[in-house]
Amino acid sequence: MTNFEVRQYDAAGRLGELEVPRAGVTVQTPTILPVVNPHVQTVDPSALESEFGAEILITNSYILHGSEELREPALEQGLHDLLDFSGAIMTDSGSFQLAEYGDIDVTTEEILQFQSDIGSDIGTPVDIPTPPDVDRERAESELETTQDRLERAAAADTGEMLVSAPVQGSTYPDLRERAAEHATTTGLDVFPLGAVVPLMNEYRYADLADVVAACKRGLGEVGPVHLFGAGHPMMFAMAAALGCDLFDSAAYALYARDDRYLTVRGTELLDELEQFPCTCPICTDHTPAELRDMDDETRQDLLARHNLHVTYGEIRTVRQAIRSGNLLELVDSRARGHPAMLDGYRTLLDHAEQLERTDPVSKDAFFYTSSESARRPEVLRHQERLDRFDLDADEVLLTEGGSNDRYDETWGVCPPFGPYPRELGDTYPLTAEVPDRTDRAACEAAADGVARLVELHPDVSFTLVHDDWPETALDRVPDSVRVRDLHARE
Ligand SMILES: [Zn+2]
Repeated sequence: MTNFEVRQYDAAGRLGELEVPRAGVTVQTPTILPVVNPHVQTVDPSALESEFGAEILITNSYILHGSEELREPALEQGLHDLLDFSGAIMTDSGSFQLAEYGDIDVTTEEILQFQSDIGSDIGTPVDIPTPPDVDRERAESELETTQDRLERAAAADTGEMLVSAPVQGSTYPDLRERAAEHATTTGLDVFPLGAVVPLMNEYRYADLADVVAACKRGLGEVGPVHLFGAGHPMMFAMAAALGCDLFDSAAYALYARDDRYLTVRGTELLDELEQFPCTCPICTDHTPAELRDMDDETRQDLLARHNLHVTYGEIRTVRQAIRSGNLLELVDSRARGHPAMLDGYRTLLDHAEQLERTDPVSKDAFFYTSSESARRPEVLRHQERLDRFDLDADEVLLTEGGSNDRYDETWGVCPPFGPYPRELGDTYPLTAEVPDRTDRAACEAAADGVARLVELHPDVSFTLVHDDWPETALDRVPDSVRVRDLHARE
């Protein structure tokens, strides 16, 4: 797999470059693929390119295949001319229609050939999008069919066109993981995580995080990962932090049709807006009242453009966060937009060990911005690595205050990380910015760090001097440790 290169990581999030040979372009990731309906173009593909900087879009080859008016022009002119777009074009296969209507009339070989014939740059086989929560028997048997389709797609002659290998498995993490492992063995190029739209529609972001994490375990670090149907900007940061590189969105157009206005914190109704909370050209040039007075077509066009500005703006924000090493701070702040997003973020942190594997060892700064920060991969890593330090001493002081000669050795302690050798105090992540009013979660995490150190050195006698830790934290400190409050009088 040489068409995708990762430049930088933050958690499992990555800045990457996807080389699309047939289009002769390199796409920067993470990015969004606007969904273009060949029949109804809310915003012209050429405008997507020139006004929004779109490097890639997605359209549906199955619709073109079945269209009396567009099928021949697509074959004759090719997709890039037909749509007037010079970037990379990915095509979907009709799997969505299969899921919606239960039946389609093409095979994987036929639709891949058609995608290749119309000049698609990234084609897609006809997989079976198994919805969430189906019984296991169905999930397994449909997965078998999907895997068979992927193998047939891999065997087909598709020339320079990249081909995607959708990963299914419903809401069974072990099936998703196994499906992902299988997908990597096919030699196909892009890995869409399929059938997650129902989870997003129902705000099941916790289940979504589990599904993505399971797929990523199976995929490892090969190839770009596409979260199929993810188009709401409020969840880009979270999905990127879990390791998704590509999103696609019909949301900008579909929401505009219903007078819905996207923001990074959720969705607003045009009818309920007094002012636009946005600085894009649409929102600075118009008021909500003006838009409400416009005819349907103009209003929908302007709303779709605002939606695209927000969408691309959030993609740039996510990229910059990865570059700066503060993607998890961004996820933390986006998670505050909706309690279900917070569930998603908390579930993401259940997978901190998995995220830790690609998380850079050193970054600029660690901001402790919420009690969730206590569960970040950096905290986990610090405590795991306590076994790297020698501790040749009988009496050791662990303290949030100054050192004391009565002890053979003094270590620092800081919430949420716990104990650390003092010479490391100026290194990441111990340089973390933590609020003065430390919360319970940070103290509890630090206590877990103390417990880990005690476990590693059962023969050492430890004294802990803490700064007003709550009982719930002190309860986690092993009984063998002498405990004092920094401000208590001796
Ligand atoms: Zn706007």
